[in-house]
Amino acid sequence: MTEIAAGVVRAFLDSEHLAWASEVGRFVGDRLRQRPHPDSDEAGRIEARRLLTLMGDADLFRPIAEWDLRACCLAREAVAAASPLADAVWALQGLGVTPVLASGSEMLKERYARKAISGEYMSGFAMTEEEAGSDVASMGTRASRDGDDYVLSGEKWFISNAGIADYYVVFASTDPERGSRGISAFVVPADTAGLSFAGAQVMSAPHPLGKLAFDGCRVPADHLLGEEGSGFKIGMATLDFLRPTVGAAACGMAARAIDEALAHATTRRQFGKALSEFQLIQARLGRMALDLAASRLLVYQAAWTKDSGADRITMEAAMAKAHATESAQTIIDDAVQILGGRGVMADHHVELLYRSIRALRIYEGTTEIQHLIIGGRMIADFVDGAT
Ligand SMILES: Cc1cc2nc3c(=O)[nH]c(=O)nc-3n(C[C@H](O)[C@H](O)[C@H](O)COP(=O)(O)OP(=O)(O)OC[C@H]3O[C@@H](n4cnc5c(N)ncnc54)[C@H](O)[C@@H]3O)c2cc1C
Repeated sequence: MTEIAAGVVRAFLDSEHLAWASEVGRFVGDRLRQRPHPDSDEAGRIEARRLLTLMGDADLFRPIAEWDLRACCLAREAVAAASPLADAVWALQGLGVTPVLASGSEMLKERYARKAISGEYMSGFAMTEEEAGSDVASMGTRASRDGDDYVLSGEKWFISNAGIADYYVVFASTDPERGSRGISAFVVPADTAGLSFAGAQVMSAPHPLGKLAFDGCRVPADHLLGEEGSGFKIGMATLDFLRPTVGAAACGMAARAIDEALAHATTRRQFGKALSEFQLIQARLGRMALDLAASRLLVYQAAWTKDSGADRITMEAAMAKAHATESAQTIIDDAVQILGGRGVMADHHVELLYRSIRALRIYEGTTEIQHLIIGGRMIADFVDGAT
């Protein structure tokens, strides 16, 4: 971890970040690295709750409350290298806490966000639906005001922590006529009557995922985040803030894959030589390192821009997420290739990384959506400049 912090991204970090990187690195080495990875969805759900407590006790979610995006990235980079499941747990604390801290009342911050930061509560972020994925504004879940409550009806799917979270930030339309401007966001405790876990969706890598059903689910009006109709904006601002951390997680996984590939290439002998003596292997390792360095620069540049006071980092965040997750996929695949047959064995960490990295190119906005965000902004700036 110290090496990660001291590498190409050092220019974006201050001395507190370097100290934090060492602290997280020690925690990961002592507490995460040796934990066995769950081999079933059920075991993964139990382990996810344990990891939440472990990371909460180590104060690993603190940078979310402090809006310190570089520290968030450093935490995810280190955690993801050791345990993709622990990284998923960290990611969801970010997604469930950020909108509450940004737009919630003091009561909501106290009752939910602070408990999630300490690791007492597990949070979830329920936006996606079967018919509303990339096009989230087309969501069918409805919320209608009834006295002092809102009544939610609909179904969410692909929801991380579904069935094990203590509360969810739920997005629903309060005014379908207004499209994205009619979407509102609510904090919904998991034990609310009318909210049920509608089944697990089992992923290829450990990651608790599933469906939530809202059937006349009554939520007090004071659990609305921000104004009615501001939910889409709240959701997009949350994703803007956290997308660099997805890139950081991808960097952590890629860095671990490179470490594993290097260790293997320098010890495995074929044709009378260590693999690392073959130039094809050297060039492959060089390209992997170069891609990782470029990803880290984009990730920490985006985080630094936000920490330096930028209101939104839509473009930087999209670039960081798209590049880091795509290149991590290639780097990890290259590591598998260098490891040969060992790279596809179920007990090898690189095989776990190979399965785990895939979802990062999809969740929190697919790579194509990030490219559209970047292209859309470029065109708008060009047109503005021309007029
Ligand atoms: C592991 C995992 C965890 C997740 N956790 C959560 C969670 O906690 N909460 C939550 O709300 N959601 C969550 N999601 C959902 C995730 O955000 C969606 O899967 C993602 O937004 C894509 O939606 P989709 O799967 O419906 O794909 P689709 O939107 O159907 O897209 C399918 C393909 O079409 C492409 N595409 C779509 N529109 C365009 C376009 N305009 N131009 C070009 N290409 C396009 C996409 O890039 C993609 O390649 C999770 C998903 C995964 C895999």
